[in-house]
Amino acid sequence: MEQREGPVSTIDASFVAASLDEGTRSFYRLLDHIGMLAAVVDDEGRIAYCNPLLLELTGWSADEVLGRKFELFLAPEAVADTLEAHRAVLAERPEAARVETEIVTRAGRRLLTRWSNTVLRDADGTPIGSAHIGEDITERRRLETHAAESEKRYRQLFYASPTPMWLHDRETLRFLGVNAAAIAQYGYTRAEFLAMTIADILPEPERALFAERRKAVAPGAAGDTQADPAVAHSGIVRHRRRDGSVIDVQISSHPLEFAGMRTRFVLAHDVTSHFEQQHKIARLNRIHAVIGGISSAMLRVRDRNELLLEACRVAALEGVFPMAWVAEIDARDRSHAIVASFGPDRAAISLVQNAIRDVFPVVAPRSDGTPSRRPFIVNELAAEPAVAGVREELERRGYGSGAAFPLQVGARNVTALVLLAREPGFFDADEIALLEWMTADLSFALEHIEQSRRLEDLAYYDPLTGIANARLFRDRLEQFVLAARETGEKVSVVVVDVEHFTRINDTLGREVGDELLRRFADRFDQGLVEPYTFGRIAADTFALASPRDQAQVATRLRDCVFELLEEPFEVGGQQILLAVQAGIALFPADGADASAVFQSAESALKIAKANGERYSYFSIEMNARLARRRALEDALRTAIDDRQFVLHYQPRVDLRNGALVGAEALVRWEHPDRGLVPPAEFVSLAEETGLIGRIGEWVIDTVCAQQAAWQQSGLGVVPVAVNLSAFQFEGGDLLRTVREALATHGLQPSLLDLELTESAVMKDPAAAATTLRALRALGVKLALDDFGTGYSSLAHLKRFPFDSVKIDRSFVTDITTNPEDAAIATAIIAMAHRLELKVVAEGVESEGQLRYLRAEGCDEMQGNYFSPAVQRAAFEALLRSGR
Ligand code: C2E
Ligand code: CA
Ligand code: CA
Repeated sequence: MEQREGPVSTIDASFVAASLDEGTRSFYRLLDHIGMLAAVVDDEGRIAYCNPLLLELTGWSADEVLGRKFELFLAPEAVADTLEAHRAVLAERPEAARVETEIVTRAGRRLLTRWSNTVLRDADGTPIGSAHIGEDITERRRLETHAAESEKRYRQLFYASPTPMWLHDRETLRFLGVNAAAIAQYGYTRAEFLAMTIADILPEPERALFAERRKAVAPGAAGDTQADPAVAHSGIVRHRRRDGSVIDVQISSHPLEFAGMRTRFVLAHDVTSHFEQQHKIARLNRIHAVIGGISSAMLRVRDRNELLLEACRVAALEGVFPMAWVAEIDARDRSHAIVASFGPDRAAISLVQNAIRDVFPVVAPRSDGTPSRRPFIVNELAAEPAVAGVREELERRGYGSGAAFPLQVGARNVTALVLLAREPGFFDADEIALLEWMTADLSFALEHIEQSRRLEDLAYYDPLTGIANARLFRDRLEQFVLAARETGEKVSVVVVDVEHFTRINDTLGREVGDELLRRFADRFDQGLVEPYTFGRIAADTFALASPRDQAQVATRLRDCVFELLEEPFEVGGQQILLAVQAGIALFPADGADASAVFQSAESALKIAKANGERYSYFSIEMNARLARRRALEDALRTAIDDRQFVLHYQPRVDLRNGALVGAEALVRWEHPDRGLVPPAEFVSLAEETGLIGRIGEWVIDTVCAQQAAWQQSGLGVVPVAVNLSAFQFEGGDLLRTVREALATHGLQPSLLDLELTESAVMKDPAAAATTLRALRALGVKLALDDFGTGYSSLAHLKRFPFDSVKIDRSFVTDITTNPEDAAIATAIIAMAHRLELKVVAEGVESEGQLRYLRAEGCDEMQGNYFSPAVQRAAFEALLRSGR
């Protein structure tokens, strides 16, 4: 029998038997190195051979076991069975070829062994013993038992686990087993599951994608979807349940070799609600990011529209809202103006705003009429009738929900932040609360910006009229002047003063005054054409500047502004006519820079006022005059304090017989340096400054004192007339002053005359009439001075209790040469006589004038022809002479 050598691992007892003929020693040497347990037992059951592994395992030496019965190795309860098994081996019964038996080591340790047994025969075929090749399977069995138990426990775990699990074939993706939880989770029966593949539980888009990926990964083969099928993986996927609903599933997938199959063991935990929660948290986090961005913009950006744009930009860039814009909605006609927007889909803006125009609740007034501050939320496009017309279009563009948050709600306008979101139902309570919070902040920031803009405006604009204030006006004038320097052109500056504004304020109230100024500014502003600039530089003073020359501005003033003011203003039910005076100056003639030319315009205004003109130009000469006037004013104050005034008296005579019938007291100023200053040089200034009141009182008192003194000295006195200024009439103290003067000096009222002009009574005719009647009742005679120069109204003559009319000197002067003046004089005489008023002619200087006036029936006369105004002593002499 030829010796064959085979791999040790596959050796079995039949091979040993086949080798027997080669000689016992070589056979045993083979078994020595077989790598398994090996023993040879003779036909009587005595141990003929044990290989080293068996000896090592059992703890015996070869000498101790050879020749002994093999029961030596057996546990007592296994002996009977093993002997029986040995007999079966010798009888070559097939069931005996492999046995498992428990052996006992020399130390008494029990081991489970498995043996392959074969009979040994001699050359005749007679059984001479048996060979046994075995292995220690103690550990393996222990492991196997454990594994079985574990498998059992595992199976229990699998089927009873609350976590949905399954096992699927990695090749075919067919489900091999599913647990009860998975059945419950997906809604399929076990049988249905086992007939499906993974693809069947994927929702539609994923399913198609999955199929593609499978083709790509393993073309033509049904491979695993993962790149490396032997690797565990996990993640969140979307699965479709039997009822069609889609759930988010946390997958944990492990490769598993099972019953010869390459499978995957998958845990599929439904995290839909959990996932939604996380998704929501992520969404809220993104909104927080938007709020953070907008908050930082609020700190940074100071311009309203820039801030709104930044808010839209942040909202869009944070990825929360694909489109964001701010609309200004007119609460009355609901028209939208887009103030800022961000996002690629501008068409969506008009789509939405057109759709919600008529129902936009942001502007829907509440019951009290104020617009709502609530946001307008559309979470379900299908459920919102306002967007019904554009629902499909919105969906096509990928929008699922939208909202509008009011930012600022005014009586007229509502500013709203409009946001569009991809997913439907984006705006639930938490999102809305956050966004409302943010929009409230944004509103606050906008109001703050508005506030600071108003503050800034205050620095440059007049809060009452809204036009430029003095500061801004001067700034703009500066610009004009700088430009004019470049071009060599001129700049006109006009300062306009509203006449008697203080009185309007006093009599009609501040509110009417304010409204009047507003209307005035409006009208003025509208009446002017660019490039004018117009500002309010003081309470009732306005200024305008124009890069045009003086004459043009003057023309414009006359044609435009004065014309505009011909229409009365209607304020508080009253018609009020405003009169203005203007001063005009020119750059560069009247000033080398903006501020100098502006000052010149102010001076020109003062000149206009002083001369009673509607407007006046400025010139160096005029300015000098103004300076003189200022000096005069100071001097005048001193004059009053120091009593530097004297009275001159001009006699008044009867025109028919030349008898002295009266006199006119005319004031003069005895200036310490300049000598005697005539009233023409200081009376108007005294009127402007109000100093005329004190001067007038002094005149009345002095005349009364003088008359009383003359009377006491036994002179035949005549009535003396005192000139009254309009200012004295306004004060209202006139009656008292006269009464007190008469009383103080014990003078009969008939010795005092008062002269006043029509304009003096016309400021307040009713009050004047009352005062004049009271004076007249005292017994004081009244003369209407300067008749013919003013209104020259017959009605005035009738209305007021005058005793005489004085024909103004201007008519008398040319009465013999100018037929017109002669006619006027004649008319005045006739008219006055019809009203039973005496007529006095002023300024009669010649015989001719005298004759004419006498011929026309004039009653009395004053003039140089008879006597100029003379000093007290001279008049006293005249009285004494008794002429
Ligand atoms: P008036 O009331 O018209 O006074 C007459 C003026 O004509 C006086 O000038 C007088 O000197 C002047 N005059 C009289 N006869 C002739 C004449 O034949 N030829 C010329 N060329 N002039 C003649 P006067 O004194 O310079 O006064 C000027 C004005 O000053 C007065 O005009 C009057 O309106 C005002 N005035 C004078 N004294 C007073 C006063 O005490 N109080 C007030 N409020 N005004 C006064
Ligand atoms: Ca007079
Ligand atoms: Ca006069």
